[in-house]
Amino acid sequence: MSLNYKGQNLFVDNTSIKSIAKNNITPFYVYSYKKIRSNFEIFSNYFRRINPLICFSVKSNSNTSLISELGKLGSGADVVSEGELLKALKAKIKPNKIVFSGVGKTESELRLAIKKRLLLINIESESEARLINKISKKMNQVTPIGIRVNPGVDANTHSKISTGKLNSKFGLPKSNFLRFCRNSRKFKNLKIKAISVHIGSQITSVGPYRKTLNILYKIIRSSKINFEYVDLGGGFGIPYQNKEKRINIGNYSRLVKKFQKKLNCKIIFEPGRFIVGNAGTLISKIIFIKQNRKKYFVIMDAGMNDFMRPALYSARHNIIPVSKSKKRIVGNVEFVGPICESTDTFLKYKNFSFLNENDLVAITNVGAYGSTLSSNYNTKPLASEIIVKNGKVNIARRRQKVSEIV
Ligand SMILES: *Cc1c(COP(=O)(O)O)cnc(C)c1O
Repeated sequence: MSLNYKGQNLFVDNTSIKSIAKNNITPFYVYSYKKIRSNFEIFSNYFRRINPLICFSVKSNSNTSLISELGKLGSGADVVSEGELLKALKAKIKPNKIVFSGVGKTESELRLAIKKRLLLINIESESEARLINKISKKMNQVTPIGIRVNPGVDANTHSKISTGKLNSKFGLPKSNFLRFCRNSRKFKNLKIKAISVHIGSQITSVGPYRKTLNILYKIIRSSKINFEYVDLGGGFGIPYQNKEKRINIGNYSRLVKKFQKKLNCKIIFEPGRFIVGNAGTLISKIIFIKQNRKKYFVIMDAGMNDFMRPALYSARHNIIPVSKSKKRIVGNVEFVGPICESTDTFLKYKNFSFLNENDLVAITNVGAYGSTLSSNYNTKPLASEIIVKNGKVNIARRRQKVSEIV
């Protein structure tokens, strides 16, 4: 845990959150560098016999300083837009470690990606391949591509983050994939280097991955193409609540090792949540507390504009006090944001450490799909992002000024 109490007070590693809040307006995101590094190392260690290229999924957390730290640890990047690509390059990730994914890349995004000579552009339709071929021809280049296949596998995760079922918009279904491979020679300015797959996010068992590997193996054999890379995507789930199931990545890594041996290919992974999910905390101040006949509403200054996962996916993120009290609020306590939407609500508790207005609370495990999903809804400024590294508090993105959005 990057979060821990010393006495009654909450710390990120060895830095007190109260001390950070003295100089920073709430709400703000705070990330533990130590945790990010250890997650990256844990992930690499599981797969060390496979020696994969790990391309951090930038959409899970696109803070440029954070990407740069991961780059220094050896990570590449998986990007899904021109903006993410430019951030990855600014963070000094080498183009030959960048994979460009996405179902609807625009012509100008593709032109940039081709010009930068990325490791792979993972195509998701025949039309996209034609367009990349056309642009590459004009630029007198041969562009390395991967083909994303839709394996028709149910990842058994939240329906809004499942991407590998046959009726989902992602990738090419098997028959289209094979037809594309048969006709690929007509694309003189494309070099097919990879097959890619990503079946969804927050996957907590190996079963869906095992199915995917089996299906991929058959598809690759039918295609008669020797893919230099197999890009297995991301999706590794993390426990958000104590009792939640953990995915056995060790088991998965053994399956991938066998798969790799049979095909003699290089492996790419694109983890996002696993690397940053539990490394981030959102610190919020309590504006008001009010009570009706049934419960206390604790109204925070962080809302769905700052952190959307509860509203979007019914995600459950624990809230803990920044200073614990010996007293308790006895009764139902519901944490809510300031936004004018009934879905702007967070967890409910049966009782809670005693709180006053102006106290600070911490919303936990928000490092992935936290700040990246935030918005200016209700014309609220984007929160700042802070990285704690070796006891130093670094502002990794300053808080937006209201004047910038008015
Ligand atoms: C979102 C995404 C990922 C990362 O998913 P996580 O669940 O955060 O690991 C990887 N690859 C692709 C193509 C994605 O769209």
